[in-house]
Amino acid sequence: MVPLMVQLGLDARWNVIKGNDEFFAVTKKFHNALHGREEAITRDEYALFLEVNRKNLDEMKLHGDIMFIHDPQPVALVEKRGELGGKWAWRCHIDVSNPQAEVWEFLRKFVIKYDGAAFSAPSFAQTIPIRQFMVSPSIDPLSDKNRELPQETIDSVLAKYNIPADKPIITQVSRFDRLKDPVGVIQAFDLVKKSIDCQLVMAGGTATDDPESEVVLKEVRERAEANPDIHILLIPPGSDIEINALQRASTVILQKSIKEGFGLTVSEALWKAKPVVASAVGGITLQVKNKFTGLLSHGIEGTAYDLKQLLSNPEYAKWLGENGREHVRQNFLITRHIKEYLLMFLALYHPEETIYL
Ligand code: UDP
Repeated sequence: MVPLMVQLGLDARWNVIKGNDEFFAVTKKFHNALHGREEAITRDEYALFLEVNRKNLDEMKLHGDIMFIHDPQPVALVEKRGELGGKWAWRCHIDVSNPQAEVWEFLRKFVIKYDGAAFSAPSFAQTIPIRQFMVSPSIDPLSDKNRELPQETIDSVLAKYNIPADKPIITQVSRFDRLKDPVGVIQAFDLVKKSIDCQLVMAGGTATDDPESEVVLKEVRERAEANPDIHILLIPPGSDIEINALQRASTVILQKSIKEGFGLTVSEALWKAKPVVASAVGGITLQVKNKFTGLLSHGIEGTAYDLKQLLSNPEYAKWLGENGREHVRQNFLITRHIKEYLLMFLALYHPEETIYL
């Protein structure tokens, strides 16, 4: 989005805060707690969170008319707004519909110092005395992750990961995180396998700010070991063409999340006109309109049932995928996203006026 904004005449830039392993352990706890999981966070951990935010404030050269801060990790940068001036907006990318009260209360003290906050779905709106904006995320159709690929590229990625093309492929692309329910994915697949010969691809990476991913990956590997039709792929960061190729090679795309801020992987799959089975949670429900742009599933058995329905009914699956692509074209492409951000920036300067997005 930054290059497009620059082309539109905005002097936009993107800064990234720095953190160590201890900081990411705390922010991952925040992340889980905001998604409703019980986490015990100590006073020292809250103090560390603030210390790292303050250290970043000292080291980063922040200046601009509008500071647009993303997610909980750097939320406390707003402490310097008095000194730096300008308008400040906070972007929340996660599902905060049912947060653990203590963590939300802690973060809320910072959130209310902003001029406005943007959430991905209406159900995430909060009781806060600042303006709230509903802005869904988006995908860039021309990026390596989403652009059309020649069949040879798709074939070579399948060959690289030893995935035969002679059986239907069910794929979930996700970080190895419990909230993506990777073990539930395997359980649903086991149920499907009882009646349909197919294979499962679970493609994911480990993120530097996600200390839990290695443990989860180990659990998933142990659970999948006995089954040659399950491919657990550890994909290095930045392998966008490979992820694109795996999505395009899939018969059905699965996103069995337990909580989901938006679920970009769903937009990515729908844009490729793939039939999607996804849990009816968070921002996924904006994208998958049940039985029209995909199937919204509930639980392991429900997911298996929906997967079987799509694998055994290719015409229906194709129709859902085509509707899904159109839905993404109309709602979840980067151009709509930029327009809404620009209107939001404008609205920050006109606090009393109604701005229609
Ligand atoms: N992704 C990736 N490699 C991986 C796993 C995920 O490139 O190994 C990408 C995926 O294609 C999507 C993003 O990371 O663009 C994940 O976004 P999403 O909203 O689905 O989930 P999050 O990880 O933000 O919870």
